[in-house]
Amino acid sequence: MSKIICPHCGGDRLHKHGKSPHGEQRYRCPKCQKAFIPGAVVKGNNCWIEPGVLKQLKSLATAKNLTLSELIKRLIEWEKSTN
Ligand SMILES: [Zn+2]
Repeated sequence: MSKIICPHCGGDRLHKHGKSPHGEQRYRCPKCQKAFIPGAVVKGNNCWIEPGVLKQLKSLATAKNLTLSELIKRLIEWEKSTN
C-alpha cells in the first residue's frame, strides 16, 4: 500500500475524516486543515472529485476533445458563473 500524503501541502500525518457519499475514505490534514479523498482530483477549494466521477469526466473530456484539466477548469468557471 502506498503512503497517503496531503495533496495540498504534502503532509503525511493524516487523520481519518469519515466517508464520502460513495463510501470512500476521506482524510483530513491537521497541518493545513483540509480534507481530501486519496486519488481524487482537486476541483475547488474544498470540493473534490470522487474517483468514480473522475472516470466519467475522463470519458467526457475525451468526447469533447479536451484534456481532463481543461474540462475541470471549464466546470469550475461554469460553477462560478452560476453562483
Ligand atoms: Zn495538508
